[in-house]
Amino acid sequence: MVNIASSDEDAAFDMVIVGAGVAGLYMLHRAKEAGLSVRLVDAADGIGGTWFWNRYPGARVDIESFEYSYSFSSELEQEWRWTERYASQPELLRYFDHVAHRFGLYEHIRLGTRIDAATFDESRARWTLVTHSGERLHARYCVMATGCLSAPKVPDVPGYGSFAGETHFTSRWPAGTVDLAGKRIGVIGTGSSAIQFIPVAAQSAAHVTVFQRTPNYSIPLRNRPMDAEYEQQMKANYAELRRMEWQSPGGFVCVGGEPRQPLRISALSVTPEERLREYEARWAAGGLCFYTSYNDLLTNKEANDTLTAFVRAKIREKIDDPVLADKLTPSGHPILTKRLCADSGYFETFNRDNVSLIDLKETPIESITRNGIVAGGREIELDMIVFATGFDAVTGALLNVDIRGRHGESLRSAWKSGPHTYLGLMSAAFPNLFNIAGPGSTASLSSAVPCDEHQVDLVMKLIERAGHDDAATVEPTRAAQEAWTARIQAIAEKTLIHQSNSWYVGANVPGKPRAVLLDLEGFDSYIAVCDGIIERDYEGFLFNRATADHTLPESVAEV
Ligand code: NAP
Repeated sequence: MVNIASSDEDAAFDMVIVGAGVAGLYMLHRAKEAGLSVRLVDAADGIGGTWFWNRYPGARVDIESFEYSYSFSSELEQEWRWTERYASQPELLRYFDHVAHRFGLYEHIRLGTRIDAATFDESRARWTLVTHSGERLHARYCVMATGCLSAPKVPDVPGYGSFAGETHFTSRWPAGTVDLAGKRIGVIGTGSSAIQFIPVAAQSAAHVTVFQRTPNYSIPLRNRPMDAEYEQQMKANYAELRRMEWQSPGGFVCVGGEPRQPLRISALSVTPEERLREYEARWAAGGLCFYTSYNDLLTNKEANDTLTAFVRAKIREKIDDPVLADKLTPSGHPILTKRLCADSGYFETFNRDNVSLIDLKETPIESITRNGIVAGGREIELDMIVFATGFDAVTGALLNVDIRGRHGESLRSAWKSGPHTYLGLMSAAFPNLFNIAGPGSTASLSSAVPCDEHQVDLVMKLIERAGHDDAATVEPTRAAQEAWTARIQAIAEKTLIHQSNSWYVGANVPGKPRAVLLDLEGFDSYIAVCDGIIERDYEGFLFNRATADHTLPESVAEV
């Protein structure tokens, strides 16, 4: 389609995609279908993106497999057979492998290739990406599909690096089997990853000591093997399921396996008895379905209090020791202001003799030592430390690459006080650079797969539109970018999101600017906004014909 002639010996493509996760694989499929020459690179030795690296025992998806899967091919939907309601990490990797084979993607993928830098050459209107080994790839379009939860947070724990035993990160779990049996394991963190890992580790470890800074709200996942009747019913109604997902704020709609329209009413508009029945039904259904219940749980403290109290009581019931129950029951932040967790026996695990809790609010970690961890003046001797300490979310993986746009402007500098994007997809002065699931999109709030599919489709529309105009570049105006960035923050101000120190607002990484990293209005609203922009002939985007033009188009320069 675009075909860029290269004057040197480096490889040149219409499009280079960085990241072989959900978004990158679908981007590759769409680009290939459109006839673009395309190369996808990933630092990992396999595809799957964050699912490749997060191979810790217990890792599985917490949105039903039927929903956490691609919707672009009904043949794929029908032929793939999930073995569990919520797929485990190995099954997800088998799925991505199947997709890559089925759609002929592997021949365009280069694994084991880390991108260190990406620079826009204005005279040729193309990106040059430099790999860790110094190789250069050129492309008209650069798609960063690097994931919003993929760059591990560097542990901010004193003495990190001193431990003589085994150290592992849930986010970089080694390939092959790590033997947990008979070991004394310390786990730092109690987010989604730890909550999945701890019950599995406790089954064979000599002892698991959990170092908890903030207790989390978690709902039972209620995973079970796939039954044939359910599978048949879901597959018979797949088109309707997808239609409902794409009209919902979360991009997923199943409540205990049954597609249900999200409730679009206030939690305070029903009687306490009715609300309790609804909460009980959702607790019994399991998983993340509280996200699709009442529509003011994240915006109205009184409404939120009803669910917070309900879940707190449910958690407390599971723990035998009342003192331990106090420590494990979240209290300092409203439910949903941190990403909800879903578990398989997490709280019950603390009733075992071989699991204990160190409450870091009472006894903070003083230091990691050669033999273990010192907290509250006591050294806890360990054979293994597992960091389940999370990610430099949304912006981390992007900013790990030295990205330079027009006039050498660095993305790191441009985002020094927080990210600035248009639709969470593009930034002014960074033409032809697309960030799938970037800051200001809805991807990290809503289900990743439909959000990624929608954004990739939007990228293809922008490229087609550029083709019609014979434009060499597409980029947002600064005015559109600043309006979008202000919109994201303004939406967040009307919610309770700032009542938590979560990765949603960048508060989990010391020194990271505090800024809301996601569009809290949800997937359906995001789609409507994008549709409106397209109808208004790609309002806020500039399609520029000049290739050898070093000057900034006027409308890009305006603020
Ligand atoms: P996370 O939710 O950010 O949790 C990190 C945990 O580590 C928190 O409990 C945090 O405590 C703790 N921590 C961080 N630094 C610490 C320190 N210096 N000392 C003590 N504790 C420290 O990370 P995650 O569990 O990896 O999950 C991240 C996101 O990935 C989730 O929100 C979810 O979106 C996604 N995820 C999804 C699944 C799934 O089922 N599909 C599974 C895993 C992850 P504070 O809360 O006090 O900061």
